Amino acid sequence: MSLNHIRPWRSIERRKSRQIMVGNVPVGGDAPIAVQTMTNTLTTDVKATVAQVIAAAEAGADIVRVSVPDEASSRALKEIVKESPVPIVADIHFHYKRGIEAAEAGAACLRINPGNIGDEKRVAEVIKAARDHNCSIRIGVNAGSLEKHLLEKYGEPCPDAMVESGMDHIKILQDHDFHNFKISVKASDVFMSAAAYQMLAEATDAPIHLGITEAGGLMSGTIKSAIGLGQLLWMGIGDTLRVSLSADPVEEVKVGFEILKSLGLRHRGVNIISCPSCARQGFDVIKTVESLEKRLEHIKTPMSLSIIGCVVNGPGEALMTDVGFTGGGAGSGMVYLAGKASHKMSNDQMIDHIVEEVEKKAAALDAAAAADQAAE
Ligand code: SF4
Repeated sequence: MSLNHIRPWRSIERRKSRQIMVGNVPVGGDAPIAVQTMTNTLTTDVKATVAQVIAAAEAGADIVRVSVPDEASSRALKEIVKESPVPIVADIHFHYKRGIEAAEAGAACLRINPGNIGDEKRVAEVIKAARDHNCSIRIGVNAGSLEKHLLEKYGEPCPDAMVESGMDHIKILQDHDFHNFKISVKASDVFMSAAAYQMLAEATDAPIHLGITEAGGLMSGTIKSAIGLGQLLWMGIGDTLRVSLSADPVEEVKVGFEILKSLGLRHRGVNIISCPSCARQGFDVIKTVESLEKRLEHIKTPMSLSIIGCVVNGPGEALMTDVGFTGGGAGSGMVYLAGKASHKMSNDQMIDHIVEEVEKKAAALDAAAAADQAAE
């Protein structure tokens, strides 16, 4: 339940964008902000790629992108699309034929910049293939691969050049009466990305795909993305996102969700609120949270859990969570259910017990949601 009406300082007013469909996933308008990732297997290795797509989907990815660099990859894409539980975006660079093949293979979206495909005839053929196969397009402007004339005009990659590039690509699609597109303006520099996205948000009503490109490894890339994407999302900008990390795609999905969860924009799984721990802790908070994060990965129901070392902050945090545990004295702590102190539990049995309580609560929340739906 959203409490934004009584806590206005939590409100984020999303930019009003046009909605498009990427396969069966709505992007833009009032649709939930979709989380994407990209496979890093060889696309021609269908088995490995499908396994990675499924793992990403299980972690919560709504849409997965796959590179299509050659004809063999286009053939593999057909198999991948068939076995994927989520819509597949085909990543195409320059080769217009790959774009046509990918649309024919069942891709839900082509990531392609129409201005880079070549002559007018080729552009028209790709757009026709996308239209014929109900395939959307993502214009993906990247500060590192801006058109030569824009680099000459602006002297270096900058937000104005990125947005001008994006608007040029948009114009090509619009001139072909094609409106089923979204757009991104990514840079590895957080300042440049953020400025470009803000300008873009003013310039078009197309759905916006957010990303800080080549953000880095798991730790540094997560921080960079949280700062860059976080402020844009906070301003209401962004309809779908990908966190680019030099890490497993599943990690990208997890980080994407954590960013959205932190801003209350999407909810999935257990949101653990835990203290950093100190000499007052009544149990080992850090090890417990590490263990609970792993043991609760299977829970998809949005809910909250507080794991707090002592009574300084424990009861207060537990008040606002579905399940809570606060360390006490003599090797045991207090379990809180729906904000109220419920029963004591010994520290050595506490992890198993919390997992059980969370599973019980998730089942109850799921049953209530199902009953609500049936009543509608
Ligand atoms: S809640 Fe207690 S244990 Fe945790 S950091 Fe604060 S004082 Fe320390």
